[in-house]
Amino acid sequence: MSFTVSHGNGIAVKYKNQTILLDPNFSDFTSIVSHAHSDHCPEEIIKKPYCTEETAEFANIRNPSFHSHVMKEGKSMKFDGFSVKLISAGHILGSTQTVIEADGKSILYTGDFKVRENLTCKKIDIQHADVLITEATYGYPAYQIPDSEIVRREFVKWVEEQLKKNKKINVGAYSLGKAQEAIKILNDAKIVPQVSDMVRKFSESYRKFGIKLDFLEKDEDGEVFIKPMHVIPQTKSDFVNCVLTGWAVSRDYGCQGFALSDHADFRELMEFVEAVNPKRVYCVHGYENVLAKEIRRRLKIQASTLTHRQQKLLTDFS
Ligand SMILES: [Zn+2]
Repeated sequence: MSFTVSHGNGIAVKYKNQTILLDPNFSDFTSIVSHAHSDHCPEEIIKKPYCTEETAEFANIRNPSFHSHVMKEGKSMKFDGFSVKLISAGHILGSTQTVIEADGKSILYTGDFKVRENLTCKKIDIQHADVLITEATYGYPAYQIPDSEIVRREFVKWVEEQLKKNKKINVGAYSLGKAQEAIKILNDAKIVPQVSDMVRKFSESYRKFGIKLDFLEKDEDGEVFIKPMHVIPQTKSDFVNCVLTGWAVSRDYGCQGFALSDHADFRELMEFVEAVNPKRVYCVHGYENVLAKEIRRRLKIQASTLTHRQQKLLTDFS
């Protein structure tokens, strides 16, 4: 068969002289954008990419020149001999994996994904593919993230304790995805936070897509403030700070950290690969070398990295 995959301008899947680009920097061929985080969105739109309605809206907030074709999740589209379908990735609202089929073979590209449930987006859809191209953010065995429900409870408990001490609180969270989950967790504990401008823009869009989020009006004073992670170290000392990130399992942020992640941890990655049951795995983004080694060792599935500028002919499976 004449499939190839390569990693350069995003991930390129080629079949009989036709190309599909997955999360490219420049969308100069038929392209699919998995979700609206900036490291997955094209910097330059040459040919309009395809993505879900939610991804189109969020990407447009960050980059007004982002224009795209909207593709419905779960519906196959034909592109020059390929069949392409988007299925939920469970990472942030609108995030998808891409299933590409041609010549009776299937390739699944995960983008960023999470297996555990998320309070503000759909759970992941897992399906079989012959070739799997998976993210490897937490592809190192030591990265075991605690159960989300436990982390949410610890976070709420800590916030309530600070409020009892009359402290004001900064919560550091990525503006898209994590911040909205933080709002939802606080709302469930009857706390309505104040939010930064960027968090407000994304959160208002979440509301448009039916996710109920309560946050204060711009001029209202709040006791809990949700803002991007990078501004937390610079904030005033009369606040107590915390961050919400999976990296809190191993990194010191100089404040309270809660390991709430939007990515699969190592155990989830292994369970996911086992469930997809591919003949071949390529690992990208993160601890790809370690993950490929562990997939070979533990699951006895052929696995390797797909490093930048590397091209693989998919002739080694059938
Ligand atoms: Zn992401």
